Amino acid sequence: MSMQSINPATGLTKQTFPVLQTVDIPPILESIVSAQTQWSALDFNQRAVFFQNLAQVFRQSREKYANVITEEMGKLLKEARVEIEKCALGCEYYAKHAGTFLVDEQIASDASSSYVAYQPLGVIFCIMPWNFPFWQLIRAAAPAMMAGNAIVLKHASNVPRCALALEEAFCDAGFPANTFRSLLVTAAQAETIIANEHVAAVTLTGSTSAGRKVATVAGQHLKKCVLELGGSDPFIVLDDADITFATEQAITARFQNMGQSCIAAKRFIIVGAIADQFVAQFKSLVNQLRFGNPKDETTGIAPMARVDLRDDLHAQVEQSISMGATLIEGGSFIGKQGAYYAPTILDHVKPGMPAFDEELFGPVAAMVRVENVDEAIALANRTQFGLGASIWTGNANRGEAVARKIHAGSTFVNGIVKSDPRLPFGGIKHSGFGRELSYHGIREFVNVKSVWIK
Ligand code: NDP
Repeated sequence: MSMQSINPATGLTKQTFPVLQTVDIPPILESIVSAQTQWSALDFNQRAVFFQNLAQVFRQSREKYANVITEEMGKLLKEARVEIEKCALGCEYYAKHAGTFLVDEQIASDASSSYVAYQPLGVIFCIMPWNFPFWQLIRAAAPAMMAGNAIVLKHASNVPRCALALEEAFCDAGFPANTFRSLLVTAAQAETIIANEHVAAVTLTGSTSAGRKVATVAGQHLKKCVLELGGSDPFIVLDDADITFATEQAITARFQNMGQSCIAAKRFIIVGAIADQFVAQFKSLVNQLRFGNPKDETTGIAPMARVDLRDDLHAQVEQSISMGATLIEGGSFIGKQGAYYAPTILDHVKPGMPAFDEELFGPVAAMVRVENVDEAIALANRTQFGLGASIWTGNANRGEAVARKIHAGSTFVNGIVKSDPRLPFGGIKHSGFGRELSYHGIREFVNVKSVWIK
């Protein structure tokens, strides 16, 4: 078996890699366990040095890694550069704060001394997606490793070069051997890794269906898991919003990373009479986007990551139109080669249509028109997902009141939903469970141990 690195802009295979033999996996996991024992014996300051080094490696090799990302999953090179920079910041954040987040917590009890200690669990298995192939991993690995765990990574099958480049980056930063390993394995092999006695816990970022399968296997083996799954974030525009500002932000919220983000705005819920103006301005900004080579600075429309994902998205668009949505822009493949899809706007989207009920993981904006704020809140919450939401209004207090009624892991007022190391990130309902980032994230893969001494 092999994994191909296919450039989604051209459809050409750049490199092919052999998949690891299943019999070779257990000895590797054993070597990671013994490396973890030594890694966990280091103190926070010692571990922090490695993550500061890793931040430097990312900055020094930014162009190299950004090019690998773009060639392998298609995003604009300028966006890939930002992703690598974010990785450096994530490493520095946990290098600086992990010791404070996990300091022993003294608690008064009937003991002479009692406290909570946060200790590593062991080897954490990270199953990661292709959409932010560096950042998703660093977001999971930096806190888990700063807590004293070791990492084994199974990256998405379409990004083997990114998977290997990540291992190279850890190596270049001087991490002890086997504290971070990237294995080219299939989803089926991933299930045997979860089951392996040397793996303590698993974290997955990906689709709801993959999350369900991984949680099932983790449950069978009674292993902790964190799931960061899909979303169908509402972007709620209230009738007092600054329409020009909101539409500009809406374009970024929907089309950055070619719409392939769990926290991209997916359902634009527009309140009252402003809907026509919002849709018209949104359309005029979409018309300014140009497709082309993702490495060109002027390109606004990159390919999607894979042809099959593009085809699935198109089927969702066609089905929504057949159920009554109005196509007002796009809705077709573009370019002679590659996985390009035209930026698409569907208007008059309603519950029951795929564009409302399902995740649209690509450059398709679903416009949902409502009469009033109560209807906006009801429709925003009428989804199986619960990841993020944004509210756009001229009155921040009004926006905050709406934000508190939205069923989601993150709600932003007059700002695009984004991940920030300082704030917890994660979802409810079918968007998953557990949290990444902030001190909440670093406490997911630790033994919260009570120590009681008389
Ligand atoms: P998947 O969820 O299938 O893949 C994400 C990761 O999970 C990959 O590493 C994949 O491996 C792995 N995986 C899949 N099934 C299993 C399993 N049974 N056991 C262990 N690991 C598994 O996403 P796709 O790439 O197929 O994309 C499909 C849809 O998923 C998208 O259209 C989007 O809706 C959603 N998605 C959401 C993301 C997010 O950020 N929340 C990111 C990516 C996708 P492999 O590649 O080898 O199958």
